[in-house]
Amino acid sequence: MQTGKMRKDRATSGRHAGRHGSPTGSARRLTTELDVRAGVFRQPAMQTPVLVLNASYEPINICGARRALVLVLKGVARTEEEQGTMLHAARMQVGMPSVIRLLEYRRIPHQTRALSRKNILLRDRNMCQYCQVVLTAGELTLDHVIPRSRGGLSTWENLVACCHDCNRRKGNQMLHELTEMRLLKEPKPFSLHTSRHIMRMIGSADPSWRRYLYFESGEQAA
Ligand SMILES: [Zn+2]
Repeated sequence: MQTGKMRKDRATSGRHAGRHGSPTGSARRLTTELDVRAGVFRQPAMQTPVLVLNASYEPINICGARRALVLVLKGVARTEEEQGTMLHAARMQVGMPSVIRLLEYRRIPHQTRALSRKNILLRDRNMCQYCQVVLTAGELTLDHVIPRSRGGLSTWENLVACCHDCNRRKGNQMLHELTEMRLLKEPKPFSLHTSRHIMRMIGSADPSWRRYLYFESGEQAA
């Protein structure tokens, strides 16, 4: 009975990434070697964001270089663009990916993301939606546009990122009662469009991402 193989697979895949792939023996050997050399995987280069494309070249996600490399080595994705740096394993060299593409098309449900503090801050890009100051996540709070005490719900449309000063100033008042405070924009659920906006912001630092992020059907580049 061989259980070692499953062990190795589990150890090298972040989630269920391996299920769709048919990893070759050498790829599996290499991922194992890389995992054994854990020091390599802990290098800062392994945290570099990598753009993930669907099989259709549609950008769908951003992941860390470590995870991207695992997907490539397992045969789930292929490298479309490289960072220009090489990763040296025991007997092989691998180009560090900057953009990868899934080999099998994955249906992305048009559902919105889970309502959470993290996602609200992400949607609002860590910017107080009243005074427009950009702060760290720890320096921001969530504001109920219609205060809870006035029946406001905890929904995408009623929660915004807010600095503590504005939050205090607003208190339990409705916006129309406050002439000096206005919302930057109407809060909306976190859509695929929002995610792409974030991908573009992160990707603007990496020119190799651009052709994938700005060449999208049905959406105009701003
Ligand atoms: Zn503020």
